[in-house]
Amino acid sequence: MSNEKFKMESRTFVLKHELPVSRVERYWKGLEDAKIYGTVCKSCGAKFSPPQADCSYCYSSNMEWVEIGGEGEIECFTQLYSFPQGFDFAENPYIIAVARFGDFKVMGWFEGEDLPEVGQKVRAETRQDESGVWKVYFTPA
Ligand SMILES: [Zn+2]
Repeated sequence: MSNEKFKMESRTFVLKHELPVSRVERYWKGLEDAKIYGTVCKSCGAKFSPPQADCSYCYSSNMEWVEIGGEGEIECFTQLYSFPQGFDFAENPYIIAVARFGDFKVMGWFEGEDLPEVGQKVRAETRQDESGVWKVYFTPA
């Protein structure tokens, strides 16, 4: 039996978002200088990475910018086998991980010979991807 009758006609659906970044511009500029920034709420102490200009817990805008660095530890990761729109340049499969750096959790692309392990020590660096977007990359420490 042929699968011909189950074929569906499809079209590409493009969805674009406008994200205001002016109040967290320091984060994006920092990536270009190999710096990863987070914010700490001076009112309640909540920590944000990626940084937020306003605290989502106490709604204060009294935030302090701090640099995140040193050695991190993988908390979780996922290996992706298909490309979301805009990630067509990626080599399949690729790994997105969350690593803890002190009190901050940072998301980045993992680059290593093998799959990462939870608890594995990593270092973070910043670089432009093939499309020109600055990103965080983790490599085994
Ligand atoms: Zn707060």
